[in-house]
Amino acid sequence: MATDSFVSRHNGPRESEIAYMLKQIGVSSIEELIDQTVPKPIRLPKPIAISEGISEYEFYKKIKAIAAKNKIFRSFIGMGYYGTATPAVILRNIFENPSWYTSYTPYQAEISQGRLEALINFQTMVMDLTGMEIANCSLLDEATAAAEAMLMMHGLRSRAAVKEGKNTLFVDENIFPQTLDVILTRAEPAGIEVQLGKYSEAELGSSVFGAIVQYPAANGEIIDYTQFTEDAHKQEILVTAIADILSLAIIKAPAEWGADIAVGSTQRFGVPMGFGGPHAGYLATRDAYKRQMPGRIIGVSIDSAGNKALRMALQTREQHIKREKATSNICTAQALLATMAGMYAVYHGQEGIKRIANHTHNHAALAADKLEKLGFKITTKNFFDTIEITLPVGIKAEDIRKIALEKEINFFYKADDKVQMSFDEVVTLEEINSIAEIFAKAAKKSAEKATKVETKVVFEPKFARTSSFLSEKVFNHYHSETEMMRYIKKLERKDISLTHSMISLGSCTMKLNAAVEMLPLSWSEFGAIHPFVPSNQAEGYLELIKELEQDLAIITGFHAVSLQPNSGAAGEYAGLMVIRQYHIHRSEGHRNVAIIPTSAHGTNPASAAMAGMDIVLVACDSKGNIDVEDLRQKAEEHKNDLACFMVTYPSTHGIFEGRIKEMMDIVHKNGGLVYMDGANMNAQVGITNPGFIGADVCHLNLHKTFAIPHGGGGPGVGPIAVAKHLAEFLPSHSLVKTGGENGIMAVSAAPFGSASVLPITYGYIKMLGADGLRKATEMAIVNANYLAARLQGHYTILYKGEMGRVGHEMILDAQNFKKEYDADATDISKRLMDYGFHAPTLSFPVHDTLMIEPTESESLQELDRFIETMIAIKGELEEIKSGKADKEDNVLKNAPHTALEITADEWKHPYSRTKAAYPLAWIAENKFWPAVARVDNGYGDRNLICTCAPLDSYK
Ligand SMILES: *Cc1c(COP(=O)(O)O)cnc(C)c1O
Repeated sequence: MATDSFVSRHNGPRESEIAYMLKQIGVSSIEELIDQTVPKPIRLPKPIAISEGISEYEFYKKIKAIAAKNKIFRSFIGMGYYGTATPAVILRNIFENPSWYTSYTPYQAEISQGRLEALINFQTMVMDLTGMEIANCSLLDEATAAAEAMLMMHGLRSRAAVKEGKNTLFVDENIFPQTLDVILTRAEPAGIEVQLGKYSEAELGSSVFGAIVQYPAANGEIIDYTQFTEDAHKQEILVTAIADILSLAIIKAPAEWGADIAVGSTQRFGVPMGFGGPHAGYLATRDAYKRQMPGRIIGVSIDSAGNKALRMALQTREQHIKREKATSNICTAQALLATMAGMYAVYHGQEGIKRIANHTHNHAALAADKLEKLGFKITTKNFFDTIEITLPVGIKAEDIRKIALEKEINFFYKADDKVQMSFDEVVTLEEINSIAEIFAKAAKKSAEKATKVETKVVFEPKFARTSSFLSEKVFNHYHSETEMMRYIKKLERKDISLTHSMISLGSCTMKLNAAVEMLPLSWSEFGAIHPFVPSNQAEGYLELIKELEQDLAIITGFHAVSLQPNSGAAGEYAGLMVIRQYHIHRSEGHRNVAIIPTSAHGTNPASAAMAGMDIVLVACDSKGNIDVEDLRQKAEEHKNDLACFMVTYPSTHGIFEGRIKEMMDIVHKNGGLVYMDGANMNAQVGITNPGFIGADVCHLNLHKTFAIPHGGGGPGVGPIAVAKHLAEFLPSHSLVKTGGENGIMAVSAAPFGSASVLPITYGYIKMLGADGLRKATEMAIVNANYLAARLQGHYTILYKGEMGRVGHEMILDAQNFKKEYDADATDISKRLMDYGFHAPTLSFPVHDTLMIEPTESESLQELDRFIETMIAIKGELEEIKSGKADKEDNVLKNAPHTALEITADEWKHPYSRTKAAYPLAWIAENKFWPAVARVDNGYGDRNLICTCAPLDSYK
């Protein structure tokens, strides 16, 4: 039995405060509030079958024991995952630092300048190494980045090409199998034909619009694609290179031989393998294609004082505006990992990265030399880090495997007569000698010990990189640890994270990411495991994964779970692909209509489009509820081709719609399945669930409801849970057995997605237990309703449930504020920064509103500070209206106020400096100074600059 219950640490309010809060709400018990909030017919009749909660200490012991079951062998498997040394200064100050890992996607630029700079460093590093003109700040992994490139090339077809029906993508066969899988999965619903072949023999017919090649190729060969690319371009065919980021330090950049797009993974820049993820994928391209680029781009702009300021660029292209026409469904990406990879480049600089690349190459060359001397045939001619060995008659891969396992070494066994190995930053001379011994033993010979690694380059000179990279100041200034630590801290101090104050972003669930849940992430038992190791080396991981899948199935009321998708939106796509496969399997493949409410998150229609579905919108009524009659009409109208209905529950308006079961019946009666967007699962856990309500599939955002931190915009984990009839279609993987027997092909590179962050969710569930999980949900609803009750009379809450309650979040209406007060929801968001708060979700799902989700983890004191702030801001609005404050020159319009402005010798505003910076007494105790004044988004988009070069001038 736990001596200290975790639930009382996870939840903010103290037991003794709850009675007061309930009184403010106007109920006498939590049960009464839940009765008024969650409709009776969908309430679970009994507690969920999750074991009793354990203490923090007990969890620590448990996860240690699980970690010990993973065997850390030395993996030379390669295939997209390599050993790397995370610089301790980055590990301690970023990876293990809640100021970095608990921040949100930098939508509010003024209080996010630190991570925006870290991310623009990442972009610059990718641009430099690939030689491209523009890069985004991360995709989910290498395989999905390749699939994004495919869709991007498809989207870039000329009008004539579209008319001619150019629909074929050429893919060179010398590509990692998991990458090919993900491309094939994505190609099918997009109607793209994939022509797989040898680049050197390829007949690029008139139907081809794009080509994808790997560089160096999957077998390690560095290939000169210059001629191939020239020929392709003559036929208006674009070429994407999947490029190994480290190799580019010493081999020609893809842009230098003509590639149009470069994609890949930045894992080996200091991010542990972690059994497959999370790692930051990258995509870089020509400037001319920037508007078709998927994912987030950070750009340089100016603030209202004319100083340089960073912010997310081209935001207008995002899913919320473009919906099903969006360039991609990427929302959460891999920000924290991109930050780490970018910092790795900052720390090492050009010389360091070159040194690491040469170290890797020299050891590969030594291994090749040793094995050749033992009589083995190296079939890779020009290589960077990977060699393929063709075994002679009489020696089988299995023989090598047996001996290697005795020495705790893993290679990639490609075929009976082929072994492949990849080297990395951390390889040593001793390891090369061990490898030689393994092969010598198999050949019944003895290997001579090498005593030294030659520093020569063994590939043909024509492949060598001659151009320099990472010449920007930031990559050349922080090479001592003291300087590096201070640089990281300097950026950290510019950002608001959960270490400072509550982040009440509705729909994003910024709850506690408990320290004990995070500890295992740094352990090598989780970090140093390659995703393709034999299963008996990953028993700890597999046990954790199995139990977690079971727990998530119980929590969602479903039958089976896939952990493969790396974000909520990736989960949406995966879930919809499973639905699609279900219909195809039943010979009803023509079912391709997805009904989606107008209030849905933008990723919903974007994901449906990716799954090849046609979107039909269903309206919401004046109370914000889905118009059931409209749904009925649309479902009946499309009954012959209805694939599914996508619904968020409680709705994106924060309401548990009473007629949800009826809606599901309507969809089912018309042959469709129900997809539930689980982003709002924090209001359901332990009280109700998608399976019980009657849905067929849902995704979860483990980085919302289940305590994985947001990392400034990723990592995310978006598992899907499905009912029994869909389990057989769960995504598979070509190298590791996973998914259903009729599973769709992989949706991510790694079999279990971002496996290394799963201990967080595992710990969250184990520590809370059934009772604690329900209590957390109840507290989230109490906290939201307490806020709603206290803000009543000051703000209008746009939508409420049938009994006048909100769910776990609420929308404050500011739609008339412009007219009434001459200030809008954006002004309030910026003014909140002066009070030390991050804004709630701005203008989603309704324009000019603020959606507040306090979560269960915020204490009564913090809620009260936020309430006091919101009331004070309302007072400031009233001052504008009454004429007490100037219509233009007021605290709201000028927010946020920087320290520079407040302390300047000159102060010309009609209000005082104290009113600007310390409007409430307690702010001084914990004052947060925005690094820049209000950022001009339009200026940045009109003058798009996405590298850190211009920052040099003001550093
Ligand atoms: C966050 C969210 C998503 C997208 O999840 P990501 O992990 O960011 O891809 C989808 N739907 C809703 C309602 C969300 O709040």
